[in-house]
Amino acid sequence: MKIAILPGDGIGPEIVEQAVKVLNALGESFEMETAPVGGAGYEASGHPLPDSTLKLAQDADAILFGSVGDWKYDTLERSLRPEQAILGLRKNLNLFANLRPAILYPELAGASTLKPEVVSGLDILIIRELTGDIYFGQPRGVRICPDGPFKGQREGFDTMRYAEGEIRRIAHVAFQAAQKRDKRLTSVDKANVLETFQFWKDIVTDVHKEYPDVTLDHMYVDNAAMQLVRAPKKFDVLVTGNMFGDILSDAAAMLTGSIGMLPSASLDANNKGLYEPSHGSAPDIAGKGIANPLATILSAAMMLRYSLGKAEHADRIETAVKKVLAQGLRTPDIYEAGTIKVGTVEMGAAVVQALV
Ligand code: NAD
Repeated sequence: MKIAILPGDGIGPEIVEQAVKVLNALGESFEMETAPVGGAGYEASGHPLPDSTLKLAQDADAILFGSVGDWKYDTLERSLRPEQAILGLRKNLNLFANLRPAILYPELAGASTLKPEVVSGLDILIIRELTGDIYFGQPRGVRICPDGPFKGQREGFDTMRYAEGEIRRIAHVAFQAAQKRDKRLTSVDKANVLETFQFWKDIVTDVHKEYPDVTLDHMYVDNAAMQLVRAPKKFDVLVTGNMFGDILSDAAAMLTGSIGMLPSASLDANNKGLYEPSHGSAPDIAGKGIANPLATILSAAMMLRYSLGKAEHADRIETAVKKVLAQGLRTPDIYEAGTIKVGTVEMGAAVVQALV
């Protein structure tokens, strides 16, 4: 089992180090190799995704990614900015399925902006299609408006599109994920207005025939946004397109109060994946030893479950995380009066200690 370790920038190296400590404590022999990415890749070789880093990622069974980005690179031309590395990896490795669980451990219910009874015990999974939709559709650009009341003026335009095969493959990922959980899938669309999403709905309905054990329902995206803050625990698995998923998964992340707790997986058709925390490189706290490493540690658990076929180790890590929270240990982002404030390294060590 070969794992590419790409720590990246900002707090990336600090939090990935803790996840590697946890992986090393499982008693398995993983082959791990580290490479620079993002700003670190640019510093090392003049490009955010150096060829050697891409090759390592291509050859590995799974990738553990920290985060990329720093304000000091904001003046670079777009193709050289750190964030391009993650887009390059998604594209080159064909990582089309983004899985973002939003779990709120009862111990952290006070961290959410919603009432504890609305969110305590929340456990939902948002699956976002990652390589299609209006973010990648062509043509796009700025042109002279060809008709209508603004004819002759400049207009910006993008193209929303989904091929049947793209919808089918993400639908299969979603139905299979639902089969491993509570067997309920909500497909989120805007079929009342958009042709692309009427088509999406029809194809998801067709794929459903292969998964009779899963209950499928369809919801418009505006209603889904409303339900996510009104009664989020009603959901089990949600599947949606790239743009709606981008927005809904961030809203779901905030239900849990801290972005420092949320892992994510981006998978290809063979379950090879890139695993990373849902947050960014947090340059404001980098190097201070206070970043929460749990999202990255939980991303490593997802990696064991989805790409490395080691669900038993994933369970061990997730149980250990619950245990340290029950012990009252908190990094500053999730700290509340009456709990014990710890730093990044202490939190990592506590998870290792709590592994059984
Ligand atoms: P961010 O997620 O890095 O930080 C937002 C806030 O959350 C900050 O106050 C930060 O301190 C806090 N935070 C984030 N992770 C934390 C953790 N583990 N523990 C404690 N606090 C944490 O978002 P941002 O500030 O908008 O972006 C910073 C940089 O990260 C930018 O360059 C952005 O482009 C990049 N970014 C990268 C990724 C990625 O690598 N996939 C994703 C999002 C943003």
